[in-house]
Amino acid sequence: MQQMLKSRDVQQDYEPMNLKLPPSKEPSKAKQLLAILNLDEKITLLSGQDEFCIPGIERVGLKPVWTSDATLGLRGWNAPVTDFPASIAMAASWNESLLTQVGECIGSECRALGIGVLLGPGVNLARVPVAGRNFEYFGEDPLLAGKMAGAYIKGVQTHPVITTVKHFACNNSEYDRHKSNSVVDERTLRELYLPAFKCALDAGSLGVMTSYNQVNGIYASEHAYLLEGILRGEWQFDGLVISDWNSLYSTDGVLSSGVDLEMPGGKYLKREKVVDAISKGVVTEEAIDRKVLHLFTAYERAGLFDCPLADPALKVGNDKHRETALQVAQEGVVLLKNKDAALPLGPSLKLCIGGENAFRVAQGGGSSMIQWVTPPKTFASLMEDKATSLPRHWYRSASYRRNVASSDAVILVVGFNHIEESEAYDRPWEMDRATLRSIEHATKLNKRTIVVVQSGGALHLTAFADKASAILWTSYLGSATAEALYDILFGNVSPSAKLPFSIASSLLDYRSMRNYPKDYAAFSLARIQKGQGDPNIRQVSPSDYTENLMVGYRQFDSEGPDPLYCFGHGLSYAAFSYDNMMVVEQEEGNYLVSFSLANISDVSGAEVVQLYIHPLTAKIYRPKQELKGFKKVYLNAGETATIEFSVSPEDFSRWDIDTWRFVSDDGPYEIRIGSSSRDIRLHQAVKYKERKP
Ligand code: BGC
Repeated sequence: MQQMLKSRDVQQDYEPMNLKLPPSKEPSKAKQLLAILNLDEKITLLSGQDEFCIPGIERVGLKPVWTSDATLGLRGWNAPVTDFPASIAMAASWNESLLTQVGECIGSECRALGIGVLLGPGVNLARVPVAGRNFEYFGEDPLLAGKMAGAYIKGVQTHPVITTVKHFACNNSEYDRHKSNSVVDERTLRELYLPAFKCALDAGSLGVMTSYNQVNGIYASEHAYLLEGILRGEWQFDGLVISDWNSLYSTDGVLSSGVDLEMPGGKYLKREKVVDAISKGVVTEEAIDRKVLHLFTAYERAGLFDCPLADPALKVGNDKHRETALQVAQEGVVLLKNKDAALPLGPSLKLCIGGENAFRVAQGGGSSMIQWVTPPKTFASLMEDKATSLPRHWYRSASYRRNVASSDAVILVVGFNHIEESEAYDRPWEMDRATLRSIEHATKLNKRTIVVVQSGGALHLTAFADKASAILWTSYLGSATAEALYDILFGNVSPSAKLPFSIASSLLDYRSMRNYPKDYAAFSLARIQKGQGDPNIRQVSPSDYTENLMVGYRQFDSEGPDPLYCFGHGLSYAAFSYDNMMVVEQEEGNYLVSFSLANISDVSGAEVVQLYIHPLTAKIYRPKQELKGFKKVYLNAGETATIEFSVSPEDFSRWDIDTWRFVSDDGPYEIRIGSSSRDIRLHQAVKYKERKP
């Protein structure tokens, strides 16, 4: 399993590559280099080595380039790297500039350790709440996921580092991921599952990683339609396409229309198999050339041919990076409920602290899990002198019960960790019984019970949603967990995060779950290990996306039921008013939307303003409303700002099956401005007229 990965010692190479290129008029080094390689050398470059390395070719001065996971920080290196909050917590910040800052930090840590290819970020949508990897992604909405990934990528790639946006495509569940065929119709693919990838590429990602699953019956790593048709064809992507680890299932399919590079090593693209395919005429040397050129193009654009592979001036885990990680952690805590201003807590209250995650720094598992050199402080240890710690089954002891009843407030930090929530399998919808009992007892004994829930996505909260006085959802916040929780709970920082997914009252409220395997949470190691990569072991099963576009708030807003906590929801200690909406048509079909946002409280804080578009008379079935813009705005107490959004024809578009392109239908639409998807504060109708070419 991934979390068993042994940390590697870092062997930095501070020398640049010294490519032995003969004089040439060709401006591209990538092309010059390709021209001097023999077939054997090119075949070497089709697969990885040493688990995480792309080979070099010594004869021509091409050095090996190391890859590393990933989005939350560099994983698997024996170095005190900064561990950032999980991607889903980053998404909850809705803060693009902060994500660019995170990317810059991670890019700089890559350079410090001599890593040229970062294996992230991941942008698969949270289609089902129980998917084991939701914590590694940016939520249920393609615009939010795409913008977050794009901002992050821009930051990473300010350094000579290649990002590989993953997992392309429709890898929206971990259930038997090698044996799963995502069956998805074209419109849903175009409107929901591809846009975040496109957005990441528009932001400049030089790499893409494919996924384990099949899409409509063909493995993603050799999907001619997705890779050649859409990615290389329509989107004109000429960078690197790398496989997920052990996710190839054939040689011929991959050579003719699949990934450029097989990781972690050559199994289907090993020398004998490639030579055999060439000799049988399955593939030509030109096809191999194209793959190698994609790799070199990414290297050249990133600057890897020209700069030293590691930068001795840069250090992992420095103060600036840790401060950024703390800011993301603070901005990743969503205040779901705060009855009777249960929060913030005053400084001298008598407190009890319990819940398993108070005593550990929970992380998601798998390939994004950081191996700490020094374990970070837990929330319970930070609060050691200020509160009574409750053991797991505290409610069985009369003295703890008395303590809880007589405290001013009880804080329970609960949720999942790397065992329950990881790649390769899904996670349960409910927390364990002891946790639920602990919450139940606490809420009965103490009316100021504050529950902090940590998970990678939506989970069952209904059991205590109306009993706890405050509920916060946080995901995994990395080594800044304790400090960030402290700052939010005690009001040093006002919460400003918003849910990047919807939390339904019950699991089957999600249409996507109604058709989902019932044993989703019952994984077995045998099932995971057997059949990894071998198409002859066990049949692939369909995972039918029958809900089509009805995912997350698109479903709940269009056809119900009402979610428990809606997409975009998140409370603050501050209060904001929205006024004076104006919509001015600039050029035909382009609108400037403006309004004033005022912090009408005496607490400084940030608000995430959200713009949704609601078609008033849709020609064909469309979701009731879709997110088309957002901004995070910091306002001091009493401050007012004018907020502007540009709305363009693209924002009204939908995929048209007849003409096989995005179209923006004429008609009335409502532009909505909200504090969440369900808390729309301002709206105005416009009569959009399609611009004729
Ligand atoms: C994951 C990838 C990861 C790779 C390398 C795979 O199991 O699916 O996301 O980048 O391992 O660790």
